[in-house]
Amino acid sequence: MKNLIFLGPPGSGKGTQAVKLAEKIGVLHLSTGDLLRTAVKEGTELGKQAKQYMERGELVPDELLIGLIESKVTNGDLDNGFILDGFPRTVPQAESLDGMFEKNNMKLDAAILLQVSDEEVVKRLSGRWFCPKCQRTYNFPANMPKQEGICDDDGEKLQRRPDDEEAVVRNRLEVYKKQTQPIEDYYRKKSVLIEVNGEQSPDSVFNDLLKVVGSQVTEERI
Ligand code: AMP
Repeated sequence: MKNLIFLGPPGSGKGTQAVKLAEKIGVLHLSTGDLLRTAVKEGTELGKQAKQYMERGELVPDELLIGLIESKVTNGDLDNGFILDGFPRTVPQAESLDGMFEKNNMKLDAAILLQVSDEEVVKRLSGRWFCPKCQRTYNFPANMPKQEGICDDDGEKLQRRPDDEEAVVRNRLEVYKKQTQPIEDYYRKKSVLIEVNGEQSPDSVFNDLLKVVGSQVTEERI
């Protein structure tokens, strides 16, 4: 089982878990949020177009994201397995992805949904900090730096993502419900949706993910 999509509301832990799982099973981790933040920082054409939407917690238009992922698929970046983190986020994006897979003889093994309640999302995101230099993230109160506001690894002053402010978080949740939640059903109907309780400790979530991936590997071998 090596071609996966991670779904879940903002703050569900999908980024952290996706990085860890990709490393463990040896596949590429591709986060559209990370790609877009890099594009904004570098001031590329994509970044300039995406910035205004991201600051408001809204989705960047489908065409931009579909083009971005299509270039990764056609360049062969996903050939050795992948975890897509943050894509697809709308039904048209999911349909385009299916088309890309079909054209390139690729198959999606599972869409993994990390389930987390609204209250937990707001609580988690209002306590999230990151290092602008090494991108390490910290969370209050579970995972704090040794010295308040300073990165343990390089001494850099920690920052908050502008889209983690409470009003923007609430908007991102609304956007998730309206535009992204329908793709849960899209994948459920295709019988590839696997739900994992994202409100457990990070280690328990990771263990569940390993079980999901491991059991599928065994089933494939039988
Ligand atoms: P994330 O880091 O996944 O929470 O993404 C941060 C922001 O990037 C989102 O709030 C959106 O503005 C934008 N973004 C990331 N992935 C997508 C996508 N697949 N479609 C549209 N916008 C996206």
